Amino acid sequence: MLLGAIADDLTGATDLALMLVRGGMRTIQVIGVPVPGDARELSEYDAVVVALKSRTSPVDEAISQTLASADVLREAGAHQLFFKYCSTFDSTDKGNIGPVSEALLDFLKVPLTLACPAFPANGRSVYQGYLFVGDKLLNESSMRNHPLTPMHDASLVRVLQRQSDGDVGLIPYSTVEAGPAAIRTALESAAKKGLRQVIVDAISERHLVDIGHAADGMPLITGGSGIAMGLPANFIRSGQLIPAEVSATLDAPEGRPVILAGSCSEATRGQIANALEAGIPALEIDADKIIEGKQTATELCDWAVAQDAKGPCLIYSSADPRIVAEIQERHGVEKAGAAVEKIMAETAKLLVLKGFTRFLVAGGETSGAVVNGLGVPALEIGPEIDPGVPWTRSIGSRKLALALKSGNFGAPDFFIKAWGMLT
Ligand code: ADP
Repeated sequence: MLLGAIADDLTGATDLALMLVRGGMRTIQVIGVPVPGDARELSEYDAVVVALKSRTSPVDEAISQTLASADVLREAGAHQLFFKYCSTFDSTDKGNIGPVSEALLDFLKVPLTLACPAFPANGRSVYQGYLFVGDKLLNESSMRNHPLTPMHDASLVRVLQRQSDGDVGLIPYSTVEAGPAAIRTALESAAKKGLRQVIVDAISERHLVDIGHAADGMPLITGGSGIAMGLPANFIRSGQLIPAEVSATLDAPEGRPVILAGSCSEATRGQIANALEAGIPALEIDADKIIEGKQTATELCDWAVAQDAKGPCLIYSSADPRIVAEIQERHGVEKAGAAVEKIMAETAKLLVLKGFTRFLVAGGETSGAVVNGLGVPALEIGPEIDPGVPWTRSIGSRKLALALKSGNFGAPDFFIKAWGMLT
């Protein structure tokens, strides 16, 4: 294994894993902290991405889960560690980006790491240490209203310094623009000055590639998935990696296909409308009935089993915002959400027992619930269906093909075209 990554959430981990696959690395995504016994199996991949749920967990918990993961990744042979967080630097003055990065530095006994959340293709750029989302400073973007990690300061040097014990510096645009050698010199001089973390500017893809090049051999890198763009090339240059071909299809286990949609986002609702129009058999879950115990996972499973086995069928709870708001008002936001997630997970478990092996799941939280319900320990990353969403294959005793889609991702025909990539 060459690169060991730890991501602070599930969909961020997939995003990073895809970036590495595109760079020619055979990549596996592990759900949750891997256990030491996994090290030998993991060592057979070029890159391992551990998906934690540590973005907003208490700092101590985030640190202990990250270090436990780092330990297994090192044991499996990782040459370089990567701590992946959101490209909008989602965090608070307490953490978790700074404290987790510093804990990793201590763990690895190295003086310095770089921090770069930039991803210009997705509108995230860093200039003079200030993070822009599109044409707005971070604190003027919608991130200022985020329910868990509202971002009120666009200066990442200040944000990271407030979360960190050691000193934070900046490698500015002028240095990054001068290329990998200049960036490398700046990193060396930052370490000599005793800095622990440096924010690195990047406003173009070339900057990301050059920063990745300059970070060759650095024991720890932190940032968004964009900064991973330049990393596979380092391993290819040094002869450690023979790039794997990216296959256009996934060799999927035999079995029946099903779509479970728990996302209420506009994109997912559009995809459902498309699927209905295409004649895919569909069953709508009634959140009120579930909460009152009048609709059960067994009923949903029986309905799916009774559909034509040749094509996919769709079970969805997705409703328009007005209806969701009414349900939330009647039962409470958390209770309604948890009830829908639970029935999706239970239904998935029952479907597996009935021979369903191909799952397309819509919704970040819904995907997390289904993957946990199915007890999937790790996913091998396959071909990309639409930007940010790959087909994956589960590792472990149960062989499943899974596409886990963050609510807003995917083209309108996603639920229809995705199946054509399975062989
Ligand atoms: P997204 O990726 O679009 O944010 P998620 O699955 O992460 O989708 O979140 C959707 C949340 O809404 C989940 O907790 C889900 O259980 C909940 N939910 C889904 N359908 C309904 C509904 N009809 N009423 C209330 N809550 C719902």
